[in-house]
Amino acid sequence: MPLNPKRTIQELRELRMLTEDANGAQRVAWTDLWIKAQDWFDTKLGGLPVEKHRDAAGNKWITLAGTSEKALILGSHLDSVPNGGWLDGSLGVMASLEVMRRISEEFGGKPPVTIRLVDWADEEGARFCRSLFGSSAFAGTHSIAADRVRTDRDGITLEQALARCDVAVDKIGDAAVERRNAAAYLEIHIEQGPVLENAGLPLATVLGTKGVERHLVTFYGQEAHSGSTPMAVRRDALAAASKLALEIRPIAQRHPDAVCTIGSVKTFPGIVTAVVGRCEATLDQRDLDTGVLAQMFEEARVASERFAAEEGCRVEWSRIWSIEPVPFHPALIDLCNASIREVAGDGLQLPSGPLHDAAEVCRTGIPTVMMFVQSLGGISHNKIENTKDEHLEIIVRALDKLAGKTIEWILNQEK
Ligand SMILES: [Zn+2]
Repeated sequence: MPLNPKRTIQELRELRMLTEDANGAQRVAWTDLWIKAQDWFDTKLGGLPVEKHRDAAGNKWITLAGTSEKALILGSHLDSVPNGGWLDGSLGVMASLEVMRRISEEFGGKPPVTIRLVDWADEEGARFCRSLFGSSAFAGTHSIAADRVRTDRDGITLEQALARCDVAVDKIGDAAVERRNAAAYLEIHIEQGPVLENAGLPLATVLGTKGVERHLVTFYGQEAHSGSTPMAVRRDALAAASKLALEIRPIAQRHPDAVCTIGSVKTFPGIVTAVVGRCEATLDQRDLDTGVLAQMFEEARVASERFAAEEGCRVEWSRIWSIEPVPFHPALIDLCNASIREVAGDGLQLPSGPLHDAAEVCRTGIPTVMMFVQSLGGISHNKIENTKDEHLEIIVRALDKLAGKTIEWILNQEK
């Protein structure tokens, strides 16, 4: 049977019926519904000559052995956030399965390179606030020390939740053995943003995932009575922070894909009758280019000093978290562009703001690329998340093209 993208859509609807309630998808990792989704997935493997197992971090691997042990890996995640959408992650897994079926069929169950499908465990981190759980264990970037004691809303520890799924918290690093023979990794995903829809195009090549600089910026002024303190002598910490909140917009806008966000501001003492003596703001800056990220950080820091001085305050910065940008593989980016051209004509190239499992895979040095499909309204992590059926079909076809080209590319590397 040739590639059948309509079957992918049917299967996604089936999964939706099985794991969605009135509020959306409920396939939260390490829960009964997540396991149910995986068991359902297993029933779709009938007739394929594949080996399947779970690795030490709970990632699920389906392997179609090829003539060469070099492996092309296709993957995404079946887990969802609570009240999630029907396509986030599951589209990538089900499209990968359809492509695996097509390849198996074409080569009589023995393709020239090994094809592996991975369903990453707990991409969302919804329950224990640790995203990319399974792929970071695979990549060896996960330190379990900080996560062992994490608890969910009901006080269940990560260790207990994993044990219920036969995953031992101390052994998750053993998932690294799955990197053996990996020659390339491909992942498709809904965009989860508005760029493709605004451009009127179905598909984009993803150039990489943006790096993140996340800081706490604290302005110190002087708490004072709101009635008795003349305007001219105030040292208002919120005034300084407010200037920074506006300044980060031009700082970001000087670069085409950069974003800067002040998402939280706390004032102290935070009462109606006092000038703000201390103001804590969070700053999140993202770009695909390390140099741009460093420049934006420096510009924000310098601006904060200036605004602090103007308002008679002082400012302190402390890093909350940061991650390097992860640019994808140039040769695979070219193959992805070519696949999109063949299937859909024009496409875009854009960096991903959200992190994805593909970033963890790429960090290990495995050549990686991602492709996005348009999200209606740019909405995700919500039950109204949607993509047109015709676009879903197009991305399954484009992934199939890309897989075919990547198999050729891997074979050429071997020569
Ligand atoms: Zn996702």
